[in-house]
Amino acid sequence: MKKSVRFWRRMLIACILALIALPCGGVVLLSLQNAKLRDEIETRVIGGDDAVTIGTTSYDAASIVRQKPLLSYQLLYPEMKASFSGFNDDLVNPKTVFLTFDDGPSTSTLPILDILKKHGIHATFFVNGKSSVFASSWLKQIAKDGNTIGMHSYTHQYSLIYASVENCIEDLNKNYLYIKNTTAIAPTLVRFPGGSINTYNLKIYPPLCAEMLRRGLIYCDWNVSAGDAIKDATSESMLENVLNGVKLCWGPAFVLMHDNGNADLLKALPQIIERLQAEGYTFAALDNTVRPPMFVYPEEN
Ligand SMILES: [Zn+2]
Repeated sequence: MKKSVRFWRRMLIACILALIALPCGGVVLLSLQNAKLRDEIETRVIGGDDAVTIGTTSYDAASIVRQKPLLSYQLLYPEMKASFSGFNDDLVNPKTVFLTFDDGPSTSTLPILDILKKHGIHATFFVNGKSSVFASSWLKQIAKDGNTIGMHSYTHQYSLIYASVENCIEDLNKNYLYIKNTTAIAPTLVRFPGGSINTYNLKIYPPLCAEMLRRGLIYCDWNVSAGDAIKDATSESMLENVLNGVKLCWGPAFVLMHDNGNADLLKALPQIIERLQAEGYTFAALDNTVRPPMFVYPEEN
């Protein structure tokens, strides 16, 4: 009887000890595993040496992306970038009109510049690459007059530039160097041919737009179109399109027009400016402190 009691007492003590020891062992094992995984994560994400600690406020995903480009096109032409310190919405009066001219320089450039000068205003020119010496002098004049020059691709060939993000970066870099080498001013703005989302770039626009912003380059779409590139457009239709469009804007208006030798636009432009000035609108050239319209991603069905 005594033996049996002793046996059961020992069994009870053994069970209690086991109940204490097992969880303790588990805790030690899990802590070791946790430390190992943490080391692995830090090594993979930041190379192990950076002074970045996961789970604290010093964690900066953007700086990691900047330091460790993961995608091939992020390595292309790293010098094509701009310093961007944020939009300053307080500086822009809602009754501001930003006139923008795409596709130049052209034979229209100097007449457009004359009209702008005569009215004491500035505008923005999103230009393509042009090889003629005339084009270079027109480009220089745009900058000399205090207007802004942005990129609009070198070739403007949709099938080429929208075949891949790499192609587009390659083309934009040519455009960037053309502007920088001709005017001594590095562009900070981009207008994609056809806008940031169009039927030609549907497969690549999300990474393409993200890549522009990663480089500090701001892409600008528009919220008013003069319709000057449409077949059968007249100076009257352009005037009407702009006046109606600007009035529909909730805030500043970003007007799409073209610098492409269209005589009707040259006829409409002074009237556009004068009519809007008479209604209290002011005009300005864009820079990268102005928040531009950016076309939104279409909703998935
Ligand atoms: Zn264009």
